[in-house]
Amino acid sequence: MAKMMRAAVVHAFGKPFTIEEAPIPTPGLGEVLIKVIANRVCHTDLHAANGDWAGRPPLRFIPGHEGVGVVAALGGGVKGLKEGDAVGVAWLHDARGQCEYCRTGWDSLCDAQHNTGYSVNGSFAEYVIGPAPYVGRLPQGCDFAETAPVLCAGVTSYKGIKETEARPGEWIAISGIGGLGQVAVQYAKAMGLHVAALDVTEDKLALARASGAEVIANARSPGAAEQIVKHTAGGAHGVLVTAISPGAFAQALKLVRRKGTVTLVGLPPGEFQTPIFDAVMNRITIRGSIVGGREDLAEAIEFAAEGKVRPVINKVRLEDVNQVFADLKAGTVAGRAVMVM
Ligand SMILES: [Zn+2]
Ligand SMILES: [Zn+2]
Repeated sequence: MAKMMRAAVVHAFGKPFTIEEAPIPTPGLGEVLIKVIANRVCHTDLHAANGDWAGRPPLRFIPGHEGVGVVAALGGGVKGLKEGDAVGVAWLHDARGQCEYCRTGWDSLCDAQHNTGYSVNGSFAEYVIGPAPYVGRLPQGCDFAETAPVLCAGVTSYKGIKETEARPGEWIAISGIGGLGQVAVQYAKAMGLHVAALDVTEDKLALARASGAEVIANARSPGAAEQIVKHTAGGAHGVLVTAISPGAFAQALKLVRRKGTVTLVGLPPGEFQTPIFDAVMNRITIRGSIVGGREDLAEAIEFAAEGKVRPVINKVRLEDVNQVFADLKAGTVAGRAVMVM
């Protein structure tokens, strides 16, 4: 009989998780079995469990794509990893590796990709499977709970900042200081950028300030965009929108500098108005950005390994998953919840 593990399982979309015993999976060719030590809860997990997006996960399934821990067993043919190595799974479970995107380091855009905790079982469990070429390689002795958010919030923020093309010494505005935004401020500082932060809650703005943001503005105050344009002498060179309110997207266009880039990573449902005249006359680039590829992940981990990025977290237990999801829906936990197994 198969050995069993505890897991948080979705049996029906939009219904509470059940905490139950599930068989510990067996790693196949090229895969490793990871004993999960910590796992951040992401908004995407909420969308997965609710079946919000087209191409729903197959029922029943285990969400979770920011799981970190140690290699517990190796499948056949795995090279460069051994039992006990610190690793983590990310949203990009694997991609086939043959298409134009995979060949050019854009495997996060591969249409043959699998996604952890979505199309394959994820890390809301004591064990999870990861393909060896796609697991994040973590420094030995890392703090697992603090490292878990790097596997999605970290790489998504880091890639999003790179996609603004803001350079060291220039300004980036980060809109939304939740799970993504708070690490984005830290990455941006580590990358040598000046940071302006926008949010609608004062404690999140205070966190941004403590993490090195030089300008903070309450996004709801009428003059917020003008305040940032003034402080940055013409607007931010890059704007990273992590907020989950469509209004933040329209606001971003008001505080970006001429020739600047607005990168969108937040995923609120809906649309936002784009003033064509301003976009044309000011040569504004508006760009979506989704997680990051394997190289982006390795780079994002390196910042954490060097101690330059330390996400603020709240530790919870696997059994707390339904409460965490209720809080996420209510917007009260700022995407900081990390399950510690
Ligand atoms: Zn995520
Ligand atoms: Zn591909």
